[in-house]
Amino acid sequence: MGAGQSVRVEDKLYTLRWKHDRTTHIRITDPRVCADRCGDEWRRPCTTFCPAKVYEWDPEQARILVAYENCVECTTCLTGCPYRVIDWRPPRGGFGVQYRYG
Ligand code: SF4
Ligand code: SF4
Repeated sequence: MGAGQSVRVEDKLYTLRWKHDRTTHIRITDPRVCADRCGDEWRRPCTTFCPAKVYEWDPEQARILVAYENCVECTTCLTGCPYRVIDWRPPRGGFGVQYRYG
């Protein structure tokens, strides 16, 4: 890669491998906050701060959908939710993302 070229997050994510657990390691403890308060006051920052796009607002169900399988364990959501309603735990042993150099 030449000088001045930037690395796209999508390209780096492609180098990762996951072993998916059937049990989520991410839970929204109070979904009402996402629906009632966070949209107007904060524009739901989880939908933008997560590099793996784990969080998506579903207007029909009026809740955040959590694609926990895509989590790269960056831990940003431990501090990124303004209402601290994201309960993020490290995936169970043996599960989660596996980092490779590439
Ligand atoms: S940032 Fe927190 S409160 Fe806001 S939508 Fe996401 S999980 Fe809900
Ligand atoms: S730990 Fe990082 S990658 Fe995983 S859900 Fe939170 S912000 Fe997204």
